[in-house]
Amino acid sequence: MAKRQASKTRKPAGKKPLARSRRATDAPAPGPRGPTGGNWTHHLVDSAPYLVCLCEGGAVTYLNETGKRWLKLRSAKSAVGRPFRDFVHRRDREALADLMDGAGGDERRATLRLARGKNGFFDAKITVKPLDGGRRDAFMVQAHDITALQAEQEARRRVEENLNLAGQVISNLNDGVLILDARRRVTAVNPAFTRITRYEERDLVGKPPPFRRVLGENRAQYARMWKTIEREGRWEGEYWTKTKEGEDYAERLSVSTITDDDGEVSQYATVINDITERKQDEERIRYQANYDELTGLPNRSLFLDRLNQTLAAASRNRDKVGLMFIDLDGFKLVNDTLGHDIGDLLLQEAAERLKHCVRATDTVARLGGDEFTVVMPRLHDPRVAPLVAQRILDSLAQTFQLNGHETFVSASVGITVYPEDATEVSDLLRNADGAMYQAKERGKANYQFFTDELNRELQERMVIKNGLAKAMDQGELALHYQPKMNLESGAVTGVEALMRWDSEELGSMAPNRFIPVLEETGMVIEIGEWAIRTACAQHRKWRDRGLPPVRVAVNLSTRQLHEISFVSVFERALKENGIGADGLEIEITENMLMSDAAGTVAALHALHDLGIHVTMDDFGTGYSSLSVLKRFPIDSIKIDGSFVADIATSADDAEIIRTIITMGKTLNREVVAEGVENQKQVDLLREYRCDQIQGYFICPPVPAQEITEFLMEKIAPPKG
Ligand code: C2E
Ligand code: CA
Ligand code: CA
Repeated sequence: MAKRQASKTRKPAGKKPLARSRRATDAPAPGPRGPTGGNWTHHLVDSAPYLVCLCEGGAVTYLNETGKRWLKLRSAKSAVGRPFRDFVHRRDREALADLMDGAGGDERRATLRLARGKNGFFDAKITVKPLDGGRRDAFMVQAHDITALQAEQEARRRVEENLNLAGQVISNLNDGVLILDARRRVTAVNPAFTRITRYEERDLVGKPPPFRRVLGENRAQYARMWKTIEREGRWEGEYWTKTKEGEDYAERLSVSTITDDDGEVSQYATVINDITERKQDEERIRYQANYDELTGLPNRSLFLDRLNQTLAAASRNRDKVGLMFIDLDGFKLVNDTLGHDIGDLLLQEAAERLKHCVRATDTVARLGGDEFTVVMPRLHDPRVAPLVAQRILDSLAQTFQLNGHETFVSASVGITVYPEDATEVSDLLRNADGAMYQAKERGKANYQFFTDELNRELQERMVIKNGLAKAMDQGELALHYQPKMNLESGAVTGVEALMRWDSEELGSMAPNRFIPVLEETGMVIEIGEWAIRTACAQHRKWRDRGLPPVRVAVNLSTRQLHEISFVSVFERALKENGIGADGLEIEITENMLMSDAAGTVAALHALHDLGIHVTMDDFGTGYSSLSVLKRFPIDSIKIDGSFVADIATSADDAEIIRTIITMGKTLNREVVAEGVENQKQVDLLREYRCDQIQGYFICPPVPAQEITEFLMEKIAPPKG
């Protein structure tokens, strides 16, 4: 382009234009007609970046637009006819004359000062060319503004300096920089690039960039990358790759285009960062968020993700999905007796075994503690599920060798199937959990399918749970009372408070139905406290009616014993009602004493020290041993009603009762028999020298009003 322009600029300097150039300013300069019909030769000369002037006999015949501007004239025309020397500094006119005179046939140059308007001057490099084959008085004068040239040089020098500076910056950057030419071959590379990738300059220059290989493995991705660069001028991405030496590292790559003045892509600047550490952090965080650290199995959150995905796919494909909850039986015992490290080993080993029991497409996850789950997608035949469950039971029943400890556990498994049993995730989870608990209740080491019956139970549980939340506020809870009687004297020794719930939805309910739900939700703490205070208040009322102190027994649940504020609840209840601790009794079960022994012992001793009577309830049904009776401050033992029920028919039960009574005497504990319903039982218990009895035979549990009447009749001191 520049060349073509140059050749055209020569035209006005030709002979013919010269002849007409006298009129050059009032008529278009001659030249070939452009395609647009305008005279573009004229235009080019006018817009040349230097002054062009034609002179004949020393007078100007033509001046271009640039010249007009530099000389600060109103119009180019106003110069025509004036001697060119008028525009030259007085002191330089002689030199100009020399140029023109001596021009001969040659082009001559000099630096002269030209006038810028009336008062100013500028330095110009003048070239004088004789025209018309050496006619002495015809010249073309070209003048270049040196000051402008200087400014231009200065600017270029600064650009170069900047480039140099940029070069220095780039070579010191921590980011790897690679410059590609328009053909996408490497032309330059900085030291950081070599440090990160291990590729040396000589490995790279002239070749495609090394990331072509990585991204090229996925050809579509590499092609997409360049498409984006062409469209948007830049691209960024992150990926794992290898150094020249084959070492893995994570790289962040950004490519941007560098365009020349015409908007054509001349180069690509690519910058890379080593983001290995950050990627590793991210991956570790992602791992921790989704996997259980101990077993490496998916955790609850990933399990829920997978279950949701599996169900979505199953609903599209009309597949069945099996869901299994697995709880280890006896894991707590291992943990408590052999320590947490062995417990951890057991969980790890159990996780391994579980993985081997399922198909590769199944997900085994750890929900927490000793609870695992299996999601079985595409379960064509639900009858496969129990086979898998049995495999799991068998596998977990094998001996565990843990650091030299030979250990055994078993598992309880609950199974539910989508969509037969439920379609919602929450319902399926509840089903599997319910079935698993059923397996526990049925003696552990077995699996249970979710059933309609179970479903009804679970439904009821929901209703109970919701109902209980408002039971206390609505006054639906009450305590009934059942007396205990001394077998020898027939005297009433106290009463047991038994809770009743008169539910709006479900009617009157015995505690066995709702106490487990109370325990599960934690409401038992609050409601248990209510029972203690109500019993104490009742005791107060009896005293106020003039009755001698009647010891009232309150049943407790495990969770209450574990509450820190447990003891103070009693102290407060006693104080509020102004009654002595000997007016209160607590009934606990053997099983409550099995867990968290240290805290429980302390709490029981505290209560006992206050003077509260402690009874061991349901004796004979739990794991208890003599040592429990010795370790805990227990005043009375209550023989479980199931033994009493069969005392007359079962020799075994009779023997158990006799043993318990003998043991109680030996340890100096009072022995109570509960559930006494007939004379025969009374007779046998008397024969065995049981201390007290309780049961329908004497009086069923009755509301406060009725028991008060009962007490008034039996124990009220005769009115004087
Ligand atoms: P428990 O402490 O063993 O109470 C004895 C149960 O036997 C009571 O059942 C009582 O009504 C029943 N019973 C009494 N005499 C006879 C009889 O002659 N024959 C038969 N077959 N049964 C008799 P209830 O009232 O349904 O209570 C069940 C269980 O609920 C209680 O067993 C106790 O463990 C628990 N419970 C009751 N009230 C409370 C409470 O306020 N708090 C807590 N945590 N548990 C309570
Ligand atoms: Ca009881
Ligand atoms: Ca009992």
